[in-house]
Amino acid sequence: MPTVTCACCGRPGNHKARGLTTACYTRHRVNHTLDRYPRTLGAAAAWTPVSARGRRLLAQYAALLAAKASPARIRWELSLGERQIQRYAAAHRHTQTTERSAAA
Ligand SMILES: [Zn+2]
Repeated sequence: MPTVTCACCGRPGNHKARGLTTACYTRHRVNHTLDRYPRTLGAAAAWTPVSARGRRLLAQYAALLAAKASPARIRWELSLGERQIQRYAAAHRHTQTTERSAAA
């Protein structure tokens, strides 16, 4: 565990989360006052395909989605497993949100 200066009491100690040491984190968790200390990590970055095949599959996924293909049809067309389809769905949603925020 990395050592930090506690965001609550300013004493050095083992980092638990939110910039707090284990003792202060536990105390704030028990007292329901953890929201006074913001999370220090952002959301994990979305996976996006980098290979030519991956980008082709993502484009194909987007086209199938636009054509309102059923989930079974998308799985069949892309020849991917359920988990891979979920990854492409998340990557597709991610591109949609970044395009929207870029346009705004
Ligand atoms: Zn503390």
